[in-house]
Amino acid sequence: MTVQASEAPLSRYVRPASTEEALDLLATGNWRILAGGTDFFPAQGNRPIRDDILDINGLEELVDLHHRDDHLFIGARATWSQILRAELPPAFDALKLAAREVGSVQIQNRGTIAGNLCNASPAADGVPPLLALDAEVELASLAGRRILPLDAFLLGSRQTARQPGELLTGLRIPTTSTTGVSHFLKLGARSYLIISIAMVAVRVAVGQDGRIEEVAVAVGACSAVAQRLRRLETALIGRRVGDDALAAVADWPFDELTPIDDVRATAGYRRKAAAELVRRALRQAHEQMVRDPSLEGRVAA
Ligand SMILES: Cc1cc2nc3c(=O)[nH]c(=O)nc-3n(C[C@H](O)[C@H](O)[C@H](O)COP(=O)(O)OP(=O)(O)OC[C@H]3O[C@@H](n4cnc5c(N)ncnc54)[C@H](O)[C@@H]3O)c2cc1C
Repeated sequence: MTVQASEAPLSRYVRPASTEEALDLLATGNWRILAGGTDFFPAQGNRPIRDDILDINGLEELVDLHHRDDHLFIGARATWSQILRAELPPAFDALKLAAREVGSVQIQNRGTIAGNLCNASPAADGVPPLLALDAEVELASLAGRRILPLDAFLLGSRQTARQPGELLTGLRIPTTSTTGVSHFLKLGARSYLIISIAMVAVRVAVGQDGRIEEVAVAVGACSAVAQRLRRLETALIGRRVGDDALAAVADWPFDELTPIDDVRATAGYRRKAAAELVRRALRQAHEQMVRDPSLEGRVAA
């Protein structure tokens, strides 16, 4: 039977004013969530919108960043520009550097960090710095709230653990992961408005003896989902930042990465680029520590 255009069901557009209202609606059907729209609309292209749209831009309670008991909460509507303006410790420098590189200022003003994660692109710039901060996502539905580590939320290219009826309400950064200094580097074919070929975030904290006590190394765009290099991190613990740490990285095989060949770069190039970015990011972290008066000369130049 041919369905006449006039018989086709109309799509609905709603903009709830509270999270409760949004969750009630999400429980009733197959809604597409709209935040800043900077991934949503380009993916839609010129096709008419046939889906029901749930616009979360009326949920004022999800705009802010604020400290809760044992973590920093970043609401799902927080934009890249908000991150750039927020007063945050040096452990967040990598996230701020990534924020500055997302598209352009206009994109940073509209685009949300939560949208970047839910879109689940292998080249999402927010993922490596957030993995380095041990970020967790908070998902809410009528059934309640659940917290997932970011690496359990991101299941693959364009795949997340979000279930129908769930809204990502925000990110949680454990206070215990906000120590040390951090850095982010992104390699693309040009400086601005570019999809990453490879990107790296590192976070390093030293103990009283000046040796690495905590380290996170996360690489993006070199596997279906950005990932922490846990074996490399283990090899770096106990080393001195600077030459000692760089020596451990010098011959590291980076075989945890599974880069793809595509129009932007070959797999071999991506692996070499990621290795070089890790070295450079660790060097930058070292330089930051040398300048940091709170480390009272614990880190030698
Ligand atoms: C010109 C341009 C340049 C760009 N440059 C970069 C770049 O350099 N680096 C980069 O990483 N990205 C880049 N992007 C992509 C995009 O800007 C970011 O991924 C942005 O953070 C997406 O956020 P948003 O709020 O616009 O998401 P939206 O487009 O609104 O949503 C993205 C997806 O997430 C879902 N979603 C959003 N919020 C929620 C929620 N709270 N709960 C559940 N699902 C949700 C939506 O349904 C949709 O599927 C660029 C985009 C453009 C147009």
